[in-house]
Amino acid sequence: MSSLRTGDQNLVKQINKSIVFHTIQHKAPISRAQISKETGLNKATVSTMVAELIEDHFVYEIGEGQSSGGRKPVMLYLNSHAGYSIGIDLGVNYILGVLTDLSGNITEKITNKLLNTDLSYVTQQIFSIIESLMEKAPKSPYGIIGIGIGVPGHVDPDDHILFAPNLKWENIDFKKIIEEQFHIPTKIENEANAGAHGEQLYGAGKNVTNQVYISIGVGIGTGIIMNHQLYKGVSGISGEMGHMTIDANGRKCPCGNRGCWELYASESALIRSIQQEEIMDENSEEYLDLLLEEAKKGDPKVLQLLNTQGEIIGIGIVNIINTFNPEVIIIGNRMVQFKNWITNPIERTLEERLSLYHKSSTEIRFSILGDYSTALGASSFSIAGFLSEKKIIDA
Ligand SMILES: [Zn+2]
Repeated sequence: MSSLRTGDQNLVKQINKSIVFHTIQHKAPISRAQISKETGLNKATVSTMVAELIEDHFVYEIGEGQSSGGRKPVMLYLNSHAGYSIGIDLGVNYILGVLTDLSGNITEKITNKLLNTDLSYVTQQIFSIIESLMEKAPKSPYGIIGIGIGVPGHVDPDDHILFAPNLKWENIDFKKIIEEQFHIPTKIENEANAGAHGEQLYGAGKNVTNQVYISIGVGIGTGIIMNHQLYKGVSGISGEMGHMTIDANGRKCPCGNRGCWELYASESALIRSIQQEEIMDENSEEYLDLLLEEAKKGDPKVLQLLNTQGEIIGIGIVNIINTFNPEVIIIGNRMVQFKNWITNPIERTLEERLSLYHKSSTEIRFSILGDYSTALGASSFSIAGFLSEKKIIDA
């Protein structure tokens, strides 16, 4: 060790600290001796790292644990309440905000409807949600450590929103807008990428190596996780499977393409069908809620509509499975509420269209986090950024 230069020693120390933190995060309650045994780090190093983590409020110790003899060890816990993170899911017609602790537990949540997508209006709505969540945050050593926002559109590696067709936004430095208002580090991410990350950390994608998360809301976005890593493409804008053409001569899409999958399989497509079939009052603002009620009552027109919707969703999934051969496909966002009626048509479509080899290898799941996948994923990006900044983890 003595031959190492200062820079190397700092790096070694940071790596050791990160190993100790990671072990406490996943194995707590755990003693210093157990950490040493688990990690192979010597006891003196573990003690030094633990002392620093305790001083920085990331870890705390409690009472006495069980021991087979001699002095009983003190157990270490992760202090999830050292700070709080804000996660925002910016839908096209709603904003959902959550306040989470450092382990991703939701402590507060707020949902507001969006009446239009004008930048200034949406910005004010987001400001007001962030302010309310900040007011509700319990007192903690680090306070609000970051804000993560999932948006339905292309986001480049510098967190610029390049293009969000359903919001009609182009080239918006939203990170700057939020940071200038709150002076809190902010992370902007594509909503499907955030959702995929959320499900991987806390939901239906836990311990799955290769998975594709499909967010079906007003539009359709996908988050692709390969070898446990989010695949973002060369400029950060991969996963726009909602804009793959499923009808070569189909309608024009705001993205510039024709016959895009999301024109036929999203929430907007469902609402358009309702209007065309004149199933409900054409001015209804609560289409989806009403549709859900009618589906539960067994209205044949509604069941037929959802059956067709499931088939079209299935056609897109066939293309995704043929491309990625993932272990799991997770269907998320608001279409999940119709899962009782769309699961069979989806599975039937896969059965009819996939090759024998693909059929057996991919499992279709629905999001476990429900409406919270994107907000939780966005919040977790902020937490990772903060812990990396504090040199606790290597992000
Ligand atoms: Zn399109």
